[in-house]
Amino acid sequence: MDKMNGLAYDAWKTSPPEEQECECPVCGSTTQEVIYRTRKDKKIIGCDDCIQQLDFYELYLEDEERKQAAEDMKLDESRGK
Ligand SMILES: [Zn+2]
Repeated sequence: MDKMNGLAYDAWKTSPPEEQECECPVCGSTTQEVIYRTRKDKKIIGCDDCIQQLDFYELYLEDEERKQAAEDMKLDESRGK
């Protein structure tokens, strides 16, 4: 029995379970290396292919860029292009 478990473990090591279940349920990517899930209910929310990690400062900059772009568009409209 112990030997069996050892063999199973060796097989698991050479072919990790990810090979069977490597499709991201969010974006369908099969090339991802990491799956992200919530700590609270362990719900999978994506993988490193469809999830972007950024800090608040980057988020702030993107937000400012969006606001600026929206204002530029408004200006263009008021100028009648
Ligand atoms: Zn994904």
